[in-house]
Amino acid sequence: MGEALPAARVDAARQRAVAQALRAFLPERAVLWQEEDTRPYECDGLTAYRNVPMVVALPETEEQVQRILRTCQSMGVPVVPRGAGTGLSGGALPPGDGVLLSMAKFMRLLRLDPVGRIAVVQPGVRNAAISDIAAPFGLYYAPDPSSQIACSIGGNVAENSGGVHCLKYGLTVHNVLRVRGYAMDGEPLDFGGESLDAPGLDLLALSIGSEGMLMVATEITVKLLPTPEAAQVVMASFDDVGKAGDAVAAVIAAGIIPAGLEMMDRPATHAVEQFVGAGYDLEAAAILLCEADGMPEEVEEEIAKVKEVFTRAGATRLKVSRDEAERLRFWSGRKAAFPAVGRISPDYYCMDGTIPRKHVGEVLGFIGEMEKKYGLRCPNVFHAGDGNLHPLILFDANDPEQLRRTEAFAAEVLEKCVAVGGTITGEHGVGVEKIDQMCVQFSEAELAAFHAVKRVFDPHGLLNPGKGVPTLARCAEFGRRHVRAGVPAHAGLPRF
Ligand SMILES: Cc1cc2nc3c(=O)[nH]c(=O)nc-3n(C[C@H](O)[C@H](O)[C@H](O)COP(=O)(O)OP(=O)(O)OC[C@H]3O[C@@H](n4cnc5c(N)ncnc54)[C@H](O)[C@@H]3O)c2cc1C
Repeated sequence: MGEALPAARVDAARQRAVAQALRAFLPERAVLWQEEDTRPYECDGLTAYRNVPMVVALPETEEQVQRILRTCQSMGVPVVPRGAGTGLSGGALPPGDGVLLSMAKFMRLLRLDPVGRIAVVQPGVRNAAISDIAAPFGLYYAPDPSSQIACSIGGNVAENSGGVHCLKYGLTVHNVLRVRGYAMDGEPLDFGGESLDAPGLDLLALSIGSEGMLMVATEITVKLLPTPEAAQVVMASFDDVGKAGDAVAAVIAAGIIPAGLEMMDRPATHAVEQFVGAGYDLEAAAILLCEADGMPEEVEEEIAKVKEVFTRAGATRLKVSRDEAERLRFWSGRKAAFPAVGRISPDYYCMDGTIPRKHVGEVLGFIGEMEKKYGLRCPNVFHAGDGNLHPLILFDANDPEQLRRTEAFAAEVLEKCVAVGGTITGEHGVGVEKIDQMCVQFSEAELAAFHAVKRVFDPHGLLNPGKGVPTLARCAEFGRRHVRAGVPAHAGLPRF
């Protein structure tokens, strides 16, 4: 895990100069620099790392965004874009000597075309609000992060966010048609279009998941899908997490692509049950939630197949949602899993790695060993269908020693993900959190290619600096533990 950006001592003269330069074209209320106003922006959802920004800018128009970027570039001031601040990898962690560019006021729906099934929105619009706006037309926006009532579509684009329904309907990158915005020098950029393909190199895909390091998005065009006529969930209990993992692989192997396929282990279901009372089986070592959606006949057929696969895989209990209220209740537990563990521990550190489905049992076993090694508890929730793990390490951030153990625990788990053929992030991005593990995931040549791309968009390295891609020097310091050079010894695999 990467440490926070070094807390810069605020240079009062520079702070005044930057605030004054921005106040030349922004209203007074849109430029914050007094500590009581800037402190609320000191962190995102990764609260272990904090930095009070030098200045916070709250633009309302594209022209203001452009002028902020031009002003900061000319003054050599770093800029960090921020949506709703729910990110879990420190992507919106501000530098103490820079401007935090909040896109919270970009909250307008610009166009809804129910025939073309698209919506054009500003980046500060909440994810769930897009589906609310589209609902009267029988449409919705498919990617559904658990944070969807709070997180912004701009943040979703920057992180290439996922959610329960992304197994069947794809991640943000599969559901966004066009992104418009500004590079650090204030030049407008417009990638993609309203058709399924666009001329030129695929810079739309490059911009999605670029963690606010290449451009500031100011307008986003998303695809809308018809709301399925019916949906039902099977909840299955297993007496062994390995069996539950094998059942996930068996569903996919049977040719079923469920609308959602999620797993929670016993510590997670216990925390959730106390919080929302979703009706989960507290005896089970793990539960799976598997949703089918579509026409009522399709759903009936798929649910029958899923039940059969789960029974063959050794499910000890099966429950099928009887109505919409029960379906939502089953999901309410999974969607509230993070806040639920937040109730049983002073802090939790939510990890995000991806592994091939067949390794679920092995990696859960490894996490169990790490719990003993570091003396920290770790409930697990997963987007199991796509192998995306979210171990939740419970710790107390007021105890620096516990934070250090948590970081070491998390690093070992991410490196284990790489060792079994997975990746260090599934949907939360790299931010500052996983920057060292990028050295494990990628070769020097690959990291150099990332840096070259970054330089094209931001030659002076001022847009969200210190995030996403480690410097080669940092990797050298980290120990040159690139995958191709040999996996770390503690990842438990032979060197190759
Ligand atoms: C309880 C909880 C549950 C979560 N569940 C999920 C989940 O299921 N799936 C998932 O993928 N994530 C999940 N997350 C993580 C988080 O909600 C997502 O990463 C989300 O996309 C962040 O959106 P945001 O608006 O809060 O962005 P922020 O946290 O404000 O920013 C995230 C990144 O986006 C950049 N950014 C923001 N706006 C812009 C813009 N307009 N232009 C350029 N860059 C920008 C920032 O610089 C930063 O790098 C969860 C978080 C919480 C707290």
